[in-house]
Amino acid sequence: MLNFTSKLMAKRVFSGFRPTGKQHIGNYLGAIQNCISLQNDYDCIYCVVDIHALTTLENTERLQEDIYEMAIDWLAAGIDPQKSIIFVQSHVPQVMELHTIFSMVTPLSWLLRVPTFKEKVKMQPHNVNYGLVGYPVLMTADIALYKGEIVPVGEDQLPHLELAREIVRRFNSLFGNAFPEPQAKLTSFPLILGLDGVQKMSKSFNNYIEIAASPQGISERVMTAFTDPERKYRSDPGHPDMCNIFCLHKFFTPTRVEEIASECRTAGIGCVDCKKMLAQSISSTLEPFRERRAIIASKPNYVAEVLADGATRAEAIAKDTMKEVKEKMGLL
Ligand code: SF4
Repeated sequence: MLNFTSKLMAKRVFSGFRPTGKQHIGNYLGAIQNCISLQNDYDCIYCVVDIHALTTLENTERLQEDIYEMAIDWLAAGIDPQKSIIFVQSHVPQVMELHTIFSMVTPLSWLLRVPTFKEKVKMQPHNVNYGLVGYPVLMTADIALYKGEIVPVGEDQLPHLELAREIVRRFNSLFGNAFPEPQAKLTSFPLILGLDGVQKMSKSFNNYIEIAASPQGISERVMTAFTDPERKYRSDPGHPDMCNIFCLHKFFTPTRVEEIASECRTAGIGCVDCKKMLAQSISSTLEPFRERRAIIASKPNYVAEVLADGATRAEAIAKDTMKEVKEKMGLL
């Protein structure tokens, strides 16, 4: 078993992520970087929420591959299993048990008013399953099972966390204090637009660059990107603030941002050269990541061992929590 270097008196962070396969630059600059920085100051539990994925997935053929690819990207990017627990939600079955218990203390009216439930109903009217409405209850169970105190969230997820706090509060008032009310750690993830320059970078919109892509693959993807829509000819002065390539330069070519902006505004640089420069910057920034990924991939069982070890450590916490819950409820 791997060692877990617990930070004395550190608060516990819980964060769950759907298994989305190979990660893209938007994931890397947002959630992954945030997870890496938190693990130095908190006891972090990072969970691949495969059960949540079932609420929208109708075909699970790729599920195991997506979990593996996501986990290997996280590990190669710097999520450290010596510092954090990383595991798969369904590998610790107590979460289903706590979900059922929480479902008995959660008024249905609380769930029916959740805006994302209404959105999901519109998105998949042919598959309005029970899991969609119970999603916030399962999310609460995820956090509470590990007595998560802090949950990193974007502003759009605050209503979900408030609901989790209400469910926990209700349980505590009915059966006695068992759970901390999780606090939001507001995180302003940078908005990374996709290659279309319009939508957020996402696999759903096929507008992404995978962080595991080869230099050639990165270059091919970058060359397809939309740029300043008002710059039609090479001689036209550009508007870097209207261009997503420029936005990506801010992250990947930070030392030359002023120069690129100025060259763009004076038509000193063309979009093709500007894209080539960006592809080179992304590629060199991610080179250490690709090297670590290749090393991890060469050890056939490494990812499975990390996830199994994470599940063992998570389950030890989960068992204690469920014992306490059952005792408080008179089930034991
Ligand atoms: Fe965008 Fe670069 Fe073209 Fe300017 S030169 S519009 S920043 S791609």
